[in-house]
Amino acid sequence: MPPSDDSRFVLEQIRERLRFYGSLTSLGFPRSAEAQAPAPRSAPAPATAPRSETLEEIRADLGECTRCRLSEKRTTIVFGVGNPKADLMFVGEGPGQEEDRQGIPFVGAAGQLLTKIIQAIDLTREQVYIANVVKCRPPGNREPEPDEAEACRPFLDRQIDAVRPKVICALGRVAALNLLRTDEGITRLRGRIFSYRGAKLVPTYHPAFLLRNPGKKRECWDDMKLIRKLLAEG
Ligand code: URA
Repeated sequence: MPPSDDSRFVLEQIRERLRFYGSLTSLGFPRSAEAQAPAPRSAPAPATAPRSETLEEIRADLGECTRCRLSEKRTTIVFGVGNPKADLMFVGEGPGQEEDRQGIPFVGAAGQLLTKIIQAIDLTREQVYIANVVKCRPPGNREPEPDEAEACRPFLDRQIDAVRPKVICALGRVAALNLLRTDEGITRLRGRIFSYRGAKLVPTYHPAFLLRNPGKKRECWDDMKLIRKLLAEG
C-alpha cells in the first residue's frame, strides 16, 4: 500500500528532527536537555526545497495587499529589506509608525538598537535580511491579531524559502510564538535553538523591550553570541 500524505508528512518531520540533532552534534554542540526536547509545536519545514522564487516575485504577488484589515489603516507595506541571500534573517513583530511611513522595517528607535545589535556581531544591516510577522502597521502599535498574522504568514514563509538563511533570529514574543506556534514566554524560549523551514531559529528579546528593560541586554548579547557561533560553524 503506498504511504498516505499523513505518513509522508510525519516521516518528513522525523527526518527533519534527525537532521537537526545530527547537525548539532557534528557542530560540537552539547546535547542539552533543552536541545533534545521537541520544540514546542515547532512548524514543519520543507528543508530541502530549492530556491524556487525570488523576493521580487513574492513582492509582486503580494501586490497592494488587502488580505486582512491591517491594509485599511496602513500607509506603506513593509515587505522586508536586506541581502536576498543572507545567512542571518531577523523576524520582528510588525511595522511601527516610522516603518509605516518609510516602508522599511526597523528604522525607528527599536530599529536603531537592532542595527547596533547586528553590528555587535560584526555584520551590517546590508548583510542580513529583516522582515516582520505582519507587513502592515497594526493601528496604535497593538500586537497583530492571530488572523492577521496567518494572512501574512505564507508571504513570510516564502521570503524565508527564497533567502534560505542558516539562522533566523525571532525578535520578541510575538515573532517567536507565531513562528514556533507556542505559547511559551520569550524568557523561556530565548537562547534556545529551534528549527524552522531548514534554518536554525534562535529567539531573543525584541529591541523595543530592551529599550524599556536595558538590564536584559546582557541576555540578548548571549543570544547573539550563540547566533554568531551557529553562523561560523554552520
Ligand atoms: N518593531 C517591529 O517588530 N518591527 C519593525 O519593523 C519595527 C519595530
